[in-house]
Amino acid sequence: MLDTARPSPSIPILVYHQISEAPPRGAPFRGLYVSPGAFARQMALLKLLGYQGLSMSALLPYLKGQRSGKVVGITFDDGYLNNLTHALPVLQRHGFSSTCYAVSKLLGQTNVWDQGIGIAQVPLMDASQLRQWTAGGQEVGSHTQNHVRLLQSDAPTAQAEMTDDKAALETVMGTSVQHFCYPYGEYAPEHVVMAREAGFETATTTRRGRSTIIGNLLELPRVPVVRSTSLPVFWLKIATGYEDRERA
Ligand SMILES: [Zn+2]
Repeated sequence: MLDTARPSPSIPILVYHQISEAPPRGAPFRGLYVSPGAFARQMALLKLLGYQGLSMSALLPYLKGQRSGKVVGITFDDGYLNNLTHALPVLQRHGFSSTCYAVSKLLGQTNVWDQGIGIAQVPLMDASQLRQWTAGGQEVGSHTQNHVRLLQSDAPTAQAEMTDDKAALETVMGTSVQHFCYPYGEYAPEHVVMAREAGFETATTTRRGRSTIIGNLLELPRVPVVRSTSLPVFWLKIATGYEDRERA
């Protein structure tokens, strides 16, 4: 039984995008790039502090209050190839797992949804690279078929984007895909229902904060790590209420 007298433990779920050197100054959204060196230092710090980095599946018992311990969820949005090349070796070195949310109709292509806002086009993992990712102890989650804006999609489209992405990734991976991430962090209550009906166990958002074991598993807040996140701030984000302010 849970001891309700004690405060609910806070579990940070980190969100990364690209693990790569940032494009030149002036390029848009440079914050979404974390350099391979910075990522390696962040993971080493977690290890040093006694945290275990976990995929959403491995984190689930902690989010449900069935297990307790020093754990941090690690997620990557979009499925960039640079996650495989730069993040995987670091994760493996520390014995960490993570979840990468992939866009099934764009496997092996580029982040075309970013084209309109001028973000450089870089490769996304293809099917065999995603299988290398999971063979390396990591997990694949769903991020819709086309990286759509759910709020601008009609209900049948939104539903298909979620359920068909799950099915397509399951076919590619040969395993079940149980975790979802709302593209752009955009969703409405009906999309939470769709995620549940599609069979997802968790869904992550871009709302900032650490998760609690009393929270809604289909609207999980996360802790953004960006290019400018210094190592001391990285620690504050994980170990203190730094990210939880907006929830207060
Ligand atoms: Zn995304």
